[in-house]
Amino acid sequence: MSDNPFRLPRNVVPVHYDLHLEPDLDTFTFEGSVSIKIGVTEALDAIVLNSAEIQMKTTVLRGEDGEIEVTGVTHDDEFERATLTLAHPASPGTYSLDITYTGLINDQLRGLYRSVYRDHDGVEHVIATSQCQSTDARRVFPCWDEPDLKATFKTTMVVADGLEAYSNGAEIGRTPLDDGRVRFEFSPTMKMSTYLLAFIVGPFEATDPVAVRGTPIRVIVPKGNLHLTAAALDNAVFCFEYLSDYYGIPYPEQKLDHIAIPDFAAGAMENVGLIAYRDAYLVLDEAKASQGELQACLDVIGHEIAHQWFGNLVTMKWWEGAWLNEAFASFMELKATDAKKPEWKRWLAFANLEIPWAMGTDQLATTRPIEFEVNSPAEVDEMFDSITYGKGSAVLRMIEQFIGEEEFRTGVGNYLRKHEYANTVTSDLWEGLDAAAEWPVGEIMDTWVYQRGFPQIDVQVVDGGIRLSQRRFLAIPDDTDSTIWHVPIQLRGIVDGEPFQQKVLLTEDEMVLPVAGTVDYVVANAGGHGFYRSRYSDDLFAALLENLGTLDDIERYSLVSDTWAMVRSAQVPASSFLDLVGRFGEETEHAIWSVIIGGLRSLEHHALEEGTRPAFEEYVRNLVSPALERLGWEGSEDESDLTRKLRGDLIAALGNLGNDPATVERAREVAGRVLEDEDFDPEVCTAALAVFSYHGGPEEYETLWSAYNNTSAPTEKVRYLRSVAGVQVEELAVSTMDKIVEGDIRTQDGFWVFARLLSGDSGPAVWHSARTRWDKVLEVMPGMTRRRVVEGLPALSQPEVAADVKGFFAEHPIPEAARFLTQNLELLDSNVLLRERETPVVTEYFAQEPAS
Ligand SMILES: [Zn+2]
Repeated sequence: MSDNPFRLPRNVVPVHYDLHLEPDLDTFTFEGSVSIKIGVTEALDAIVLNSAEIQMKTTVLRGEDGEIEVTGVTHDDEFERATLTLAHPASPGTYSLDITYTGLINDQLRGLYRSVYRDHDGVEHVIATSQCQSTDARRVFPCWDEPDLKATFKTTMVVADGLEAYSNGAEIGRTPLDDGRVRFEFSPTMKMSTYLLAFIVGPFEATDPVAVRGTPIRVIVPKGNLHLTAAALDNAVFCFEYLSDYYGIPYPEQKLDHIAIPDFAAGAMENVGLIAYRDAYLVLDEAKASQGELQACLDVIGHEIAHQWFGNLVTMKWWEGAWLNEAFASFMELKATDAKKPEWKRWLAFANLEIPWAMGTDQLATTRPIEFEVNSPAEVDEMFDSITYGKGSAVLRMIEQFIGEEEFRTGVGNYLRKHEYANTVTSDLWEGLDAAAEWPVGEIMDTWVYQRGFPQIDVQVVDGGIRLSQRRFLAIPDDTDSTIWHVPIQLRGIVDGEPFQQKVLLTEDEMVLPVAGTVDYVVANAGGHGFYRSRYSDDLFAALLENLGTLDDIERYSLVSDTWAMVRSAQVPASSFLDLVGRFGEETEHAIWSVIIGGLRSLEHHALEEGTRPAFEEYVRNLVSPALERLGWEGSEDESDLTRKLRGDLIAALGNLGNDPATVERAREVAGRVLEDEDFDPEVCTAALAVFSYHGGPEEYETLWSAYNNTSAPTEKVRYLRSVAGVQVEELAVSTMDKIVEGDIRTQDGFWVFARLLSGDSGPAVWHSARTRWDKVLEVMPGMTRRRVVEGLPALSQPEVAADVKGFFAEHPIPEAARFLTQNLELLDSNVLLRERETPVVTEYFAQEPAS
């Protein structure tokens, strides 16, 4: 790592920063000054530190023997550094480096940036807020901006009267100045990394603090939203208690604020003591929120609080360790959510959401290993993807469930206590876990962390036992790939009529597990904890179907999900999937319907000829109608949140995939009343809007667009924007594209709206309209949202459109999205193959089986 040109020389060690900021929300600039206490470890004639888009005015170096003049400052834009040349060499010792400077409050969602929002009365307000991860603290002040150069920070801010200011430390002073402004002073922080700093100014208001284990916790929102903070505050208190108990270490800071920001590139950011969120995560009306929105609020709060110990107190040495930080917080968030809301079956939802998201990337030849060498800031940003969050948390869950939850927790506690206020590499965690577990954690995990991809486990009953074999699962199969993993497998089944359970570590390409007796059936991924696909021999698959009623929800889920994966990878035809899901008409579990509907939607999008559509729609109606009839449109008081959510999904499937006239009509009626502000069950409301927009024309489009513009409630805004992007008529979809490019849609939302448009019926038209003004499209996708501009491309599987997409990007590479682009183009290839292969299969399936 020492030869990484992006790393600073280690001849200076920052110890403490006194930072003063005066942001001006009218001119979008700020005045700053910083006094840094540093240790010089070897004689030097220049000081090198990080600085970007900052104009230094004065620089002074003071040592024990007096001042050393700084004779020049040079900037290196590529490496985002400043070099301060000294009049004579500084000998080793302690110094104070004082710099005054000016900086910019940009519109790029990084460093110190501005966010403009309208309140409930339509009045416009400006916020200045920061995002320092990964390498943007250097845009706020000159500093040693690397995660292992930890220091303490004391901040003061001067802001216009009437505004609030927040930072990582607790507010310890608020003084009116003669010029009418107000000076805020914050307590010094613990020893921490620069990427976790935060500075926020604006018209905010805060809930009263709730003291939890002695730590005051608040939710802070743009003024006028205080009545929508109850869910967030309740979640914040619960997760804080749950996580501090789990870690067994007191929270290391003085307060923990959760603040809602109207423009935010990521979902949230775990700044020490001052966590920032997209506003829709924190500001929500519990009575009107869907299960998905409530779960997102709880998940994300748990995630960010989990970081306060894992990541903030103990931090990676360098950015290649960012995956472990994120993976661990993602894993802990699920534990916290599951603890608070067991009825949401969060681990089943994990199998249905995050695992397929991760496998969607990891099934590609162009996937990456979880950990890889990181040099430049652009490579750091590439770490924040489905492999880090999804696969990373999945392999942690897999090992936790294999070695035991208590052993895992003990290992984590050991690790945190040993490295508090310091930095680590990945193997430090495995050491902590190895000491607590009976299995070789490090050896197992190395095969998952440093190798790309994941295995498929083939299961077969043979004489004397169960044969398990592994090979890499690839969307486009490649028989020459011989990668193998150390696979922690948990088997469950029935042998000789008796329950059977066994843990097996498969380290070779195959093995036969001896079993005394006759295997009635066996599932190869009991609990769904394994990050692999299972494929059963035909007789075993038949035995599982015969025993469908005795399989638990995750086992039934896996059967459908794995079968769909086998269709995707050309191992079984789509007809097998259609046959299988035909048996699930009686199913009541939301996640299982979700994977069924997802598979059907893919077939509809990629493999349906127009002539087959009526028969396909009838198949959907025959499958879904009885399930919806059982639930009805009206909920009952005692039904679960997931049942309510299932109702919504069934309505949307029946109305859109099934094109069921009665459902479409009723959805339109409900949507009309929702748009008149009538309160409805949130799941029915969301589904009705989905059907309304899918079948909508110009009039519906205008109605949704003005509803989007007229609401100031963040969750409603997202809901209406999703509906606007759900209108399928070509010129209207293109007009939504216009709105993205012209800045009528927030830059934080542009990428997902674009992806949604590409995934719709008018995807090709939207693509053609986007490619003609590509520079403008990129312009409105700043910072970390830019690479996500490619997420919708795999939907464009019509061969001539796909060829055009590939030709276009051969000429127009996106450096910030290089890896994402390659991966999404491979997924596109795989979808083109799916279309070519499965269209005749689906056509024949419905020609042979006219729905009765
Ligand atoms: Zn995180």
